[in-house]
Amino acid sequence: MTEVIGHERQRRLLAKRPAQSLLFVGPEGVGRRTVARWFAYGLNCERGFPPCGSCPSCRLRHHPDLLEVAPRSHTKSGQVARRPQIRLDQIAPREGSEEVSLLEWLQTAPRYRAKVAVVDSAHLLGEQAGNALLKMLEEPPAHAYLVLVAPSREAVLPTLSSRSLTVGFGPLPERELRRFTSDEAALRYSEGAVGRLKAALADPAGLAEAEGAARAWVQGLGEDPAALLAQTEALRRLAEGPFDPWVFVARAFGSWPPAARRRALEALLEAREALEAYVAADLVYTRLAMTLRRLHAELRSGSTVSR
Ligand SMILES: [Zn+2]
Repeated sequence: MTEVIGHERQRRLLAKRPAQSLLFVGPEGVGRRTVARWFAYGLNCERGFPPCGSCPSCRLRHHPDLLEVAPRSHTKSGQVARRPQIRLDQIAPREGSEEVSLLEWLQTAPRYRAKVAVVDSAHLLGEQAGNALLKMLEEPPAHAYLVLVAPSREAVLPTLSSRSLTVGFGPLPERELRRFTSDEAALRYSEGAVGRLKAALADPAGLAEAEGAARAWVQGLGEDPAALLAQTEALRRLAEGPFDPWVFVARAFGSWPPAARRRALEALLEAREALEAYVAADLVYTRLAMTLRRLHAELRSGSTVSR
């Protein structure tokens, strides 16, 4: 069984089994997948909700009635996909495929009481895979539940979101996270997400290093005008590291005057969105480095942004 932190309101709702198809939306790391697992254990618990933790079903570490499907970064032929995707054969049966698809799995009877299929990153479902799911959503077997996990309702195919009950998840209040730790650096990095907090606590030295590197990167923006290439490369390394550098970079603007800070944060947000939309990463980093260098230069020359 999995322990869940916070999200009481959402769990009270789920305990009433409000729908067979659910869409869990919210930022990465806040606990959407953990609550989906909790839901599966509750549905299968001998004593119902909340899962008791001691019946035969609750004691299982890997539950046979819980299936999690996630995007694959490789195509069927083994090539690296341009963007990770949930393939049609993960969802629907296909001739020649040895894997059991989600739909086949959901059709069979549960070992305990209910089958729960969780589709992680449901916004990466292609149209064909989405359409295959749709048929199941219209007439689900009585024992079947589907949980789609996505960043937002808008990101998911409208045909799927309109047939699912949306359950929103937000960052947890700091007092919930303080039950785990008083490590201020990790708490700051977490932004209310348990997943982020755990990653930070697992590698405090790496976290400090990433924060230092991001700060140095912002400080270095005003240096050598020929350094754009090196700065782009440094940003790419930061972004590919184990920690999300954006929160550190944003914090490094803290000492800038408000107008400049606002423009810097806008540039940062734009870059994140471009990356999420799979715009070529090198292009995004170069553009961001250029924008921030220009802002930095304006700051130095005392033009408009310094006020
Ligand atoms: Zn139980």
